[in-house]
Amino acid sequence: MFLRGFLALCLAGAAIPAAADTLAVTAARMLDVETGRVIDNPRIVITDGRITAAGPAATTPAPAGARGLDLAGLTLLPGLIDMHVHLSSDPRLGGDRALRFVRSFQAVMGVAHAKVTIEAGFTTVRNVGSDGFDDLALKQGIENGYIPGPRIVPATYAIGATGGHCDTNQYPAEFEFARPGIADGPDAIRSKVRELHRRGAEVIKFCATGGVFSAGTSVGAQQYTQAEMDALVAEAHMLGMKVAAHAHGTSGINTALRAGVDTIEHASFADATSFELAKKSGAWFSMDIYDDDYILAEGARNGVPEENLAKEREVGLKQRQNFQAAHKAGVKMVFGTDAGVYPHGDNALQFAKLVEWGMTPLQAIQTATVNAGQALGKAGDVGSLSPGHFGDIIAVAGDPLGDVTVLRKIAVVIKDGQIVKDAR
Ligand SMILES: [Zn+2]
Repeated sequence: MFLRGFLALCLAGAAIPAAADTLAVTAARMLDVETGRVIDNPRIVITDGRITAAGPAATTPAPAGARGLDLAGLTLLPGLIDMHVHLSSDPRLGGDRALRFVRSFQAVMGVAHAKVTIEAGFTTVRNVGSDGFDDLALKQGIENGYIPGPRIVPATYAIGATGGHCDTNQYPAEFEFARPGIADGPDAIRSKVRELHRRGAEVIKFCATGGVFSAGTSVGAQQYTQAEMDALVAEAHMLGMKVAAHAHGTSGINTALRAGVDTIEHASFADATSFELAKKSGAWFSMDIYDDDYILAEGARNGVPEENLAKEREVGLKQRQNFQAAHKAGVKMVFGTDAGVYPHGDNALQFAKLVEWGMTPLQAIQTATVNAGQALGKAGDVGSLSPGHFGDIIAVAGDPLGDVTVLRKIAVVIKDGQIVKDAR
C-alpha cells in the first residue's frame, strides 16, 4: 500500500493521469451508524479513497475493473474515531521516567502507537497535546506513506496558565523546564493560538482546570479566567479551529462552556448547570471513563507518584456517575479515551464502559463515529459509510449491537480504500 502511495505521488508529480483505483467490499452485514439499521449482504464501492456507493449488493453494482474484497461472515462499520489521544505518550513512563530518554524518543514511540491504534480500528484520532510537534511529525509520516497510522487532527502543544496543568511543576524552583504552550492573559493567549495555528495545529487544546497527572495542581481548580477563555475561543474560531478544553472541576467546565468551547475533555465534576450550558451551546462531552481502571491497577508499577494516584481515586467514580447523569440529561457525547495514560491500541475497551454506564451499544458506537465526525467539523469526511466519506471501514465478527465488546477484536481495517490490516 505504501508503494502505491509513492507511485501515486510520483505520477501526480509527472502530471500523468493515474487510472481510478476502485475497491468493492462485500460482507455479511453493514451497520448504518446513523440509524442503527443493519443491511444484509452489502457492497461498498470506494474510488480513489472516497466511498462512491454503499447499499445492498443486489442494487449496488461493482464498477468494471474494481478490485473485489469479500469479507464473508463479517459486519462492516465506519472506521472508528478517538477524540482524545496522546500518541507520543506511554503509560509505562510514569513520573520522571520519561526523562531517561532523548526528546525524539517520544516521536519514535509514537510510530509504534500509531500502528497499534489503526490496527485497533481507529482510522482517525485527535491528538490533544504533545511536545516537540510529535503529532505533526507522525501526521506527515503517515500522510506521506512512511508509516501506517490513523489520520491525525493535531493540537501540537496544549495551551495553559503558568503553573497550571499544562505547565511542568514537579522540578526544583531553579530548574527551567518551560512548556512552549504556556500563555497568561487574553492578549498573550490570542497570540499563542495564532502561533500554534501557523505551526500546524488544527484544533486548540487548553487546560481550563488542574489535572490528575500534573504536580501541585488541585484537580478541580479553575486555571483561566472567563476573559482568558473568551479570548482563546474567539481567536481559535476566527481561524476556523475547534477548541477542546481539558476541564475536571465544575467552575472551569462552566466557564469554558460559557466561552463557547466545542468539546469538554474529562468533564469529571460537571453538574446540572454544565449540562444545560452544553445543551444550549451544542458543546460535546468527551469523557474518558475507562482509563481509571488501568491507572489504579497499573499506575504504581508504572512509576506514577502517589500524589497523582490519589487524584485519580478522587475523580474516577464521580466521573462515571456524572457521565451517566449527563447522558441521561441529553448532553451530546463523543468518544475520547486519553490513550497514552493507558496503552495505545486498547482504545475500544471504553465501549463496554459506556454501555455499563447507561448507553445502548448503538449510542456508544455513535460516539466514535457519526458524533465524532460532527464534533470535528468533518461530518462529510469521517464517521459514516455513506457516499462522499473517506473509504475508512472496519470489519468485525459478531453483532456489535448485541455485544459491543466485539469491537475489541477488529478483523479488517481499510483506510482511504487501502487495506491496512487483514487478520481473518
Ligand atoms: Zn489527555
